[in-house]
Amino acid sequence: MSTLYLFHPAALDHRTPLGHPERPDRVRVIERILEDERFSALVREQAPMATPELVALAHPEAYVAAIAEAAPTEGLVAIDADTSMSPGTYEAVMRGVGAAVQAVDEVMTGKVKNAFSGMRPPGHHAERTRAMGFCFYNNAAVAARHAQKAHGAERVAIMDWDVHHGNGTQDIFWDDKSVLYASTHQMPLYPGTGAASERGTHDTIVNAPLRPGDGSEAFREAFEVAILPRIESFAPDLIVISAGFDAHWRDPLANLNLTEEDFGWATRKLLDIAERRCGGRVVSLLEGGYDLEGLARSVAAHVKALMEA
Ligand SMILES: [Zn+2]
Repeated sequence: MSTLYLFHPAALDHRTPLGHPERPDRVRVIERILEDERFSALVREQAPMATPELVALAHPEAYVAAIAEAAPTEGLVAIDADTSMSPGTYEAVMRGVGAAVQAVDEVMTGKVKNAFSGMRPPGHHAERTRAMGFCFYNNAAVAARHAQKAHGAERVAIMDWDVHHGNGTQDIFWDDKSVLYASTHQMPLYPGTGAASERGTHDTIVNAPLRPGDGSEAFREAFEVAILPRIESFAPDLIVISAGFDAHWRDPLANLNLTEEDFGWATRKLLDIAERRCGGRVVSLLEGGYDLEGLARSVAAHVKALMEA
């Protein structure tokens, strides 16, 4: 069985202001490291465009349209304090959602065993009706809903190990008992949500916040004690990973001290559950990660683990 890697050069055309950490070089270094010989067995496909109807699985139609209409024909337009659109942003965003949908299609039909999308911008801060934190549409949320609507998945688990809490994904699934949202993240940190007491209407939100300075040991303990048993007992039909790599010790936006091997370890733990519960079905979507070397090394460890499943 094989691992699918989805990318499209349109991801480079989402421009951000000079000095902004969420920049095209992020996906350039991922492309470069995945060209290495050890990744030659990857199935490589171009990320297709999503349709507004697919995006509307996770956002109201009026919001879907408002983002499309906000895209400028030249220059940059600010959506919030740290989120802006350039002329290439809309296509990058739509191919990011399209990659998530295609990954779900191929994993759910057994064409590939698992999949990784290396597209940007990220998505987990995008709430039902609000773009924020570099995010416009919530890729992971669309992936989960598409697996349910198009492939009959009853329960989907989303694991978010980005160093920031995925307030958007939590918002979208707050009262949806068919989707488990689990997150490890630094607290306090942007966006401020993600306390362990935030559990959702049906106790299907699982937040395991970590303290600034925490490293491998605290992360692995939180993962094994607070996260994995909940995903296992939820018995998902698909596991979606919001794969941010900004908890790496090199990352400039936060203060956790994970190594790339922690991401490989966490990937293998989720693959073990997926093997027992859902035929190994895992879809992983790039979120954050802002130190180019830490990001590339972490993606390599993550994708290698996916390929060895
Ligand atoms: Zn992040």
